[in-house]
Amino acid sequence: MSSFAFATPASVADAVALLSDAGDTRCQMLAGGTDVLVQLKSLDRTPRTIVDIKALPETNALDIGSDQIYIGAAIPSAVLNENAELKALLPGLLEAADLIGSTQIQGRASIGGNLCNASPAGDSIPALIANGAVCVIAGPSGQRELAAEDFVVGVGKNALDKGELLLGLRIPKPTSNTGDAYLRFIPRTEMDIAVAGCGVRVDVDGNGVCTAARVAIGAVAPTALLVPDAAAALIGSKLDDDALAAAGAACSAAASPISDKRGTVEYRQKVVGVLCRRAAAIARDRARG
Ligand SMILES: Cc1cc2nc3c(=O)[nH]c(=O)nc-3n(C[C@H](O)[C@H](O)[C@H](O)COP(=O)(O)OP(=O)(O)OC[C@H]3O[C@@H](n4cnc5c(N)ncnc54)[C@H](O)[C@@H]3O)c2cc1C
Repeated sequence: MSSFAFATPASVADAVALLSDAGDTRCQMLAGGTDVLVQLKSLDRTPRTIVDIKALPETNALDIGSDQIYIGAAIPSAVLNENAELKALLPGLLEAADLIGSTQIQGRASIGGNLCNASPAGDSIPALIANGAVCVIAGPSGQRELAAEDFVVGVGKNALDKGELLLGLRIPKPTSNTGDAYLRFIPRTEMDIAVAGCGVRVDVDGNGVCTAARVAIGAVAPTALLVPDAAAALIGSKLDDDALAAAGAACSAAASPISDKRGTVEYRQKVVGVLCRRAAAIARDRARG
């Protein structure tokens, strides 16, 4: 007879060995548990081994280096938001993390868990993609890396293979001329999931011309999407109204949403364009300091 078990591996090697040697036993990682526990209670009570990865040094490390930032996959968003240096560098990403649930939820919820849960409406996902985040993954063959835009492969599905776990996210360090922003729309003021979301990161030169851009949209397709056409509309411009409008139109065109009680296809396509324009304006103003 199968039953639930709870494991607390002391190292990444132990965690990988546990996951790899599980045979037919189902294993599920636990970080903050804000998705896992809800799903266990209401959606899927299938017995499994819960593998608690939130005490591993690699999933808890936060390192702000000279050219990149490493954020451990299990760090609660409230902890990230208390780091003033990180907040100054990546305000858009931390605003996305700060939108997840309530203060209580943020005390547990991690951006690694948000990404691994692979909800189309996960708020941190477009912000991670816009920031060029790279997923650092440990598994039986060692470590590998995968761009955040390739990590979520379907609704509730991620690219992790058997025996793998997400250790953290590597993000190119913003310069003083970089700005990021994330905006979402929900039908009420908080504690709801996005009808649409948009993350933008831009770099500008001394003349205010955009030299690099990444734009990602969420909740308007089965997975969050990188929108290269929106970035192309921004690069080379002074991020004026025409460029922002063109980027917004590219996001609306890239969206392939569903209609549900939160909004129709047409509504979501329109809203994601508006969010892109507004987020790009915020990112621009941040990049200009
Ligand atoms: C009341 C409430 C409100 C919420 N509001 C929002 C919201 O506004 N926006 C939003 O985006 N989400 C929201 N959520 C969803 C949830 O809080 C987030 O998805 C959260 O970021 C998940 O992080 P966690 O650390 O709790 O993950 P967990 O619940 O521990 O894990 C989530 C999933 O990822 C897997 N996993 C976790 N860490 C790893 C890892 N390192 N490697 C491999 N797999 C891993 C787990 O096995 C599980 O399948 C809400 C949830 C609740 C209960």
